[in-house]
Amino acid sequence: MQLRKHVHGITADMWPRCSEVEIENGRIGYKLAKGRAYDLVKAYADEPHVRFANCNDDADFRAFLLGFGPLHLTEVNAAHGFGVVSLRDYQAGSRFLRALIRIMDACKKPQDPRAALAEFFAALTNNLSPGPWQEDFKLDISLSVISPLCGSVTTGDPAEWARRATAADVRKALASCVEGWFRSPNRWGFRVQPRGRVFDIEPSFELNSLWDGLRWMLFYDEWNQRPPVLCQECPTIFRPQTAHKKKFCCPECAHRAANRDWRRKDLRKQKVNRKRKGDNDGTHETR
Ligand SMILES: [Zn+2]
Repeated sequence: MQLRKHVHGITADMWPRCSEVEIENGRIGYKLAKGRAYDLVKAYADEPHVRFANCNDDADFRAFLLGFGPLHLTEVNAAHGFGVVSLRDYQAGSRFLRALIRIMDACKKPQDPRAALAEFFAALTNNLSPGPWQEDFKLDISLSVISPLCGSVTTGDPAEWARRATAADVRKALASCVEGWFRSPNRWGFRVQPRGRVFDIEPSFELNSLWDGLRWMLFYDEWNQRPPVLCQECPTIFRPQTAHKKKFCCPECAHRAANRDWRRKDLRKQKVNRKRKGDNDGTHETR
């Protein structure tokens, strides 16, 4: 199966979809769809990064792989047209992407980002398969990221550190995580392709895997000033389609929140009314 078509200029980042996906006993088995590869850069419009971050159950992961293929491919997978991956790894990857979107969101908001940072560190280390490496990785984050920030040697679990650190250190770590994680080797350039007697020039990016593509899409969202937002009512992540600030993912969530606000205001009004009535009854002193 040919995945990468060499064109004049930067590589065309063609990626395969899956024709079959089965999830069983913690494993995802997939078959690559022949002749249905898609352009990773153009797929940005379909928001695979937001879809992957919103994956919740087996059905979601299955739909994601059918639509966008596996996150990574080895030469063997590409040659044979199928592969088996661990469901746990995909769940960990989705949780990590969600945590990453959450710290980026938290950077821009004045609210306490502590919970978002703790979840980021937990999801970051969880994204590595369980085992001794995970503990080493925690220590590495403590020594190489956290210690220089707070000016003293810190060891132990970074998520625990985030829960107890000072507000100033938490802010510093937040910024450092977003910067550090996105320093990217992705190349940019042009694709110059013939169209009749002329050439089309298209700005493009070299993306080496779907996972690489999902990271790039988060970068491109910021570039376009349309970053994903966390719904204030439910766990859904969404990208507002207009520059207008949106707080809710769908009309139902907006309704639910509005109803609750209204009920709250109504209760307050009833309380005031009751108090006034009490005054009129002479149970409160009047002037
Ligand atoms: Zn919602």
